[in-house]
Amino acid sequence: MQITITKAENLKPKPEDANLGFGSIFTDHMFNMDYNPEKGWHNPRIEPYAAIEMDPATMMLHYAQGVFEGLKAYRTRSGSVQLFRPEKNVKRLNRSCRALCIPEVNETFLLNSLKQLVALEKDWVPSVPETSLYIRPTIIATDPFLGVRASNTYRLFIILSPVGAYYPEGFNPIKIWVTKDYVRAVRGGVGEAKTPGNYAASLRAGDEAHKNGYSQVLWLDGVELKYLEEVGSMNIFFVIDGEIITPSLTGSILPGITRDSVIALAKMWNMKITERKISIDELMGAHETGILNEVFGAGTAAVISPVGEIKYGKKTIIINNGKVGLVANKFYTALTDIQYGRAEDPMGWIVPVT
Ligand SMILES: *Cc1c(COP(=O)(O)O)cnc(C)c1O
Repeated sequence: MQITITKAENLKPKPEDANLGFGSIFTDHMFNMDYNPEKGWHNPRIEPYAAIEMDPATMMLHYAQGVFEGLKAYRTRSGSVQLFRPEKNVKRLNRSCRALCIPEVNETFLLNSLKQLVALEKDWVPSVPETSLYIRPTIIATDPFLGVRASNTYRLFIILSPVGAYYPEGFNPIKIWVTKDYVRAVRGGVGEAKTPGNYAASLRAGDEAHKNGYSQVLWLDGVELKYLEEVGSMNIFFVIDGEIITPSLTGSILPGITRDSVIALAKMWNMKITERKISIDELMGAHETGILNEVFGAGTAAVISPVGEIKYGKKTIIINNGKVGLVANKFYTALTDIQYGRAEDPMGWIVPVT
């Protein structure tokens, strides 16, 4: 398939790298492609960024049949632009598609389209350390129909947003909240897919966490309300008595690419790392006996997010004196050095764009 390119006539002014924030500024162009049963995925095109006109009965708006991805393009010191394991995002998009009954996309074609779009928008990739161009591929169900079934037609689009440093004042531990009042996902559901409904379902608990002074929710499993699963948009790691532990992928946890990268690096460094079930009681017990060394989240947005405090019921625990731990810091440095090309890429994770 040939990608049709229509360039924008007027380019937008580019923002200052210093005040980018997250997710509110978009570049000049976007990628679009359509699906119908006769033609399959067709009409791939890069065109000026624009609103999508929709019938009010569009199925995505009513039944949330959609999937998305999130990855970043990084500018190296030499000025080139590169991606971090993008083939993993494309694969995961298709896995999410299967969970939502959406027709899969050719992975090589989608990755090439994404690279072509980023290459066209390369001047939008910011240069200040730890800034990047966030890439959001999305697929939405487009049949105008109110019956509940899978849509026959779809739109795939990719939009790009320059984003600021996640830690402009330096690496800062966050406070997280564990609750038994709400769950995010259950086994057999769509928890392991990146699909809008999971995020809508997390808002109320997130709101309550914020009202209590906590920035995110650390979810318990939806069946027994016992095992730790993940944080809002990050997977979670615990360092207990020198061993790194992350919840195993049981079907209700999003399989993070940062998570996978942390595990791979730990193995390469011969650190003790285990994927297994870990309960909130085990965590609180480890803190009580003084062997809980560190807790940190892992996801594309923040890369590594140290956790300094956890609240569960009436108990509040402070981890590592509320300071950034050595293990969290080691992964943060290693991952960002690879992503920004400041270090060798021993795993072959980098994909150059320009
Ligand atoms: C995207 C996401 C993650 C992290 O995945 P990465 O590929 O590392 O960015 C973790 N949990 C949820 C719920 C997510 O949506």
